Amino acid sequence: MDYSHIRNEDLDLYNLIEGEEKRQREGLELIPSENYVSLAVREAMSCALTNKYSEGYPGKRYYGGQEYTDQIETLAIERAKKIFGADHANVQALSGAAANIGAYFAWLEPGDTILGMDLAHGGHLTHGAPVTYMAKLFKFVRYGMKDPDTGEIDYDQLREIALKERPKIILGGFSGYSRSIDWKKIAEIAREVDAVAMADVAHIAGLIAGGVAENPFDHGFNIVTTTTHKTLRGPRGAMILSKGTVSNPLRAPEKTMENLPTLIDRSVFPGLQGGPHMHQIAAKAVAFNEALHPNFKTYAHQVVSNAKAMAEVFKEEGVRLIGGGTDNHLILADVYGSLDISGGDAETLLDAAGITLNKNSIAGDTRKPFDPSGIRFGTPAITTRGFKEEQVIEVARIMIEVLKNKDDATVAKARASIKELAEANPVPESFI
Ligand SMILES: *Cc1c(COP(=O)(O)O)cnc(C)c1O
Repeated sequence: MDYSHIRNEDLDLYNLIEGEEKRQREGLELIPSENYVSLAVREAMSCALTNKYSEGYPGKRYYGGQEYTDQIETLAIERAKKIFGADHANVQALSGAAANIGAYFAWLEPGDTILGMDLAHGGHLTHGAPVTYMAKLFKFVRYGMKDPDTGEIDYDQLREIALKERPKIILGGFSGYSRSIDWKKIAEIAREVDAVAMADVAHIAGLIAGGVAENPFDHGFNIVTTTTHKTLRGPRGAMILSKGTVSNPLRAPEKTMENLPTLIDRSVFPGLQGGPHMHQIAAKAVAFNEALHPNFKTYAHQVVSNAKAMAEVFKEEGVRLIGGGTDNHLILADVYGSLDISGGDAETLLDAAGITLNKNSIAGDTRKPFDPSGIRFGTPAITTRGFKEEQVIEVARIMIEVLKNKDDATVAKARASIKELAEANPVPESFI
């Protein structure tokens, strides 16, 4: 990208942006929620649409001058529906957190109950962490894994809690869970207790789009929320997909499952947000077009093959993996239990070696959340750089070396190898 105007106006900021670009170029990104977008996505994000107000929805706006914005938002909506087989898509949600709040308020009244995954077992902050406002407004109850060493979800427990608590929403989907999910079982339990089945696929949306993970809509889910910037490889943002009939969002419909699309539109605007960020929506449309291209299937499959290959190296080295391995793009390793280093220290050492990942609590963690026992890492970003099994196995071996030896000499050697690997595999400019 050409930043000549920023350079001319604001040299301090220019230098910081250049620094971040260099960091991304020379290091390896293993944070499983991060990715690299195409230049086409970045161009859309910097286009003149950032100047435009378009409160409302295509054909039903509160401001004039919408002949292009209506068509742009409609393109994004239609592509999103096609990727996920949804009846409706709201592409205005500003982030994953906002998408979840929008979905909760579409269906719930304050005080209602949501049954979601235990945060320590991989559920997300927005699934009712006590520090969030949502936890003050709704009652969150929890299910979890039967055994952290296999990762299987305790579906019997899930059903028992559902029958006892009668939640209005049963929530599936995670940010720290590496196995596949039995969407059908969750949807059946939701139906049994008359709850909306909602999946938050923020992490695995790209794997679903690429046909390498199951789509909750194929198994009876009513609502699917997702970010657009993780495995889906689009701009920072989110959307809410749903099944049901779409009617006029200017009129409040009855709260029935059939009306979910309209309830969701009204919940996002005017319920939660003001004007949509139309440049982001244009960038979403670009990313969705890329996700519909056959190349995206190849990418998604490679993401999972790479994660499995890295998991094997860790297992061969005797490192305990939560869930016993991976079916998706991410790996959770108990480095404190297996390599005698805390998650925080592991994060710092690997950062010094040019590998970015995050410390993570593991199920039943005996350590404090700020320096827990685990690390979480994944393959979406390095796979975008073109890494195949051979290279990710090398990265995994370097990680193990660093975590075992914990000394400056090993870190320096690792840093040189990582920089070489990164430079040999630059981020591509386009994917189709
Ligand atoms: C990342 C994530 C979110 C939040 O997305 P933001 O865009 O950071 O608000 C919500 N749910 C899950 C499962 C996530 O992984």
